[in-house]
This record gives sequence, C-alpha cells and structure tokens, in this order.
Amino acid sequence: DQKICFGHSIELKHVSFAYPNSSQPVLQDINLRIKRGEKIALVGINGSGKTTLAKIILGILNPDEGEILLDGKQRSENTLIDGSIVFQDFCRYFFTLQENVAFGDIGRLYEERELIQCLEAVYFFETQPGLSLDTQLGRDYAGAELSKGEWQKIALARGFFKKFNLIILDEPNSSLDPLAENKMFRRFVELLEEHTGIIITHRMGIGMIADRIIVLDHGRIVEEGTHEALMEEEGMYRQMFMIQADLYK
Ligand code: ADP
Repeated sequence: DQKICFGHSIELKHVSFAYPNSSQPVLQDINLRIKRGEKIALVGINGSGKTTLAKIILGILNPDEGEILLDGKQRSENTLIDGSIVFQDFCRYFFTLQENVAFGDIGRLYEERELIQCLEAVYFFETQPGLSLDTQLGRDYAGAELSKGEWQKIALARGFFKKFNLIILDEPNSSLDPLAENKMFRRFVELLEEHTGIIITHRMGIGMIADRIIVLDHGRIVEEGTHEALMEEEGMYRQMFMIQADLYK
C-alpha cells in the first residue's frame, strides 16, 4: 500500500461502512472535514463506531459508500495516510525499552536521543527512573516488569516516535492515573503543534482542551463543535460531561 501525507485537509463525504459478514452498518452517512493542525476529541458510547471511524480516516479500512478527499482530491483505495495510531489494546513487547519504542519506526532504532525524548514526553522516567534504553522488559525474559499504565506510556512513546502527518490515540488514558493523564494531554497538545491529532476518549474533560469535539452515536455524527458550544446544547455531550462532573462533586 502507498502511504501519503495530506496538506490542508481530509474530508469524508457521505461515508458508510459495515464489517464483512454483517448487515448492520457501523458508520452511516459520515460527513467530516479535518483541517491540518486540528486537535479533535472523538467521543461516544462503546460500540458507537469511533475506532472504526479512525481506521477509515487512516485508510486501514475502505468505506463501502461515500468518498474520502485529501486536499480536495479523491483518495484512491488502498492508500494509507502517513499516520500513527495508538490502539487501546496496545502490544507489550518483551524486548528492550529501546526496541519497544523504536518499533514505531524500526529503521531509526539507533536514534537514541529521540527515543529518550519520546519517553520523556510521556513522563515515563518519573516512575521508572532506574531504567535505561537497554533494559530488557518483561518478567518472562528476566526483565523489568511494568505496570499497565507504564506499558501504556511506552505505547504512546512508540506512537510519537513514528514520524506522522496525523496521530490518532484510541483511549490512550485508560490505564493512566489522573495526574499522569492531565499532564499527558497538555503535553500532547503542545507536542502536536502543527500536526493533526484525534483523541478517542471517555474522559469528557479532554474536550475542553480540544479544538473540536465530535460525538458519535450508533455510527452517526450527532454533535460537533467546541466544548463551550456543545455545553449550550441539551445534547449527548453535555449529558455525558455532566454525569462525569457529578462524580467529582
Ligand atoms: P467504539 O470504538 O465506539 O467502541 P467500534 O468502532 O470499535 O466502536 O465498533 C463499532 C461496532 O462495530 C461494534 O458494534 C463492534 O462490535 C463492531 N465491530 C468492531 N470491529 C469489528 C470487526 N472487526 N468485525 C465485525 N464487527 C466489528
């Protein structure tokens, strides 16, 4: 497959998708324009189609109907966006710390300074100050055992290490504690600068940092806008936000 970058935008027009062997569409009539540099929070209940939409945007899946435009031109099938995606079911590789991060772009395995920077970006060494790049990971291989949150930080560092045009983080915070999560998201927004980023998340507070929030429900975009705009509507975003906010009272 060919990997390509986009200049100013990716646009989905009337995109629908169903998985093979399923008559039920997972995405229906999705219209969405993502501008370069935007930070988007993608929210919605489980099974609403968020991960599937991320895969369609990157070109991992092709839509059954509709079209995808890159900088206004139709994208051909089997073209992958030069993107980086960190899935929630990330892998733990029982290799060294260096290899674990470099698997994001194995050709740059020896770019140690950048590997360290990516680990620092996710605050990895705060809880594991004794580890170095050549530390073997995984108890099964007589290596260091990490917590789930620490493995998740490595998965994020791997996603950052890969050079990308667009990065998608699929619930990157599920194993992080609230302090790590808060710092990570602020850092994430700083790091991205002119890059485009999509965060799939259940933490509604993240919507406050994003440029735009997209709410999916049963495979359709039901709301779209800034945190302030969506809080003014009596819609799903406001409802989800208020339920979480109530837990903190
Ligand atoms: P979300 O990320 O919002 O939780 P997903 O995009 O993962 O939602 O899934 C949307 C729907 O698609 C769910 O009903 C799920 O069961 C279904 N689905 C996801 N992946 C597959 C697959 N590989 N094959 C068939 N159905 C799938």
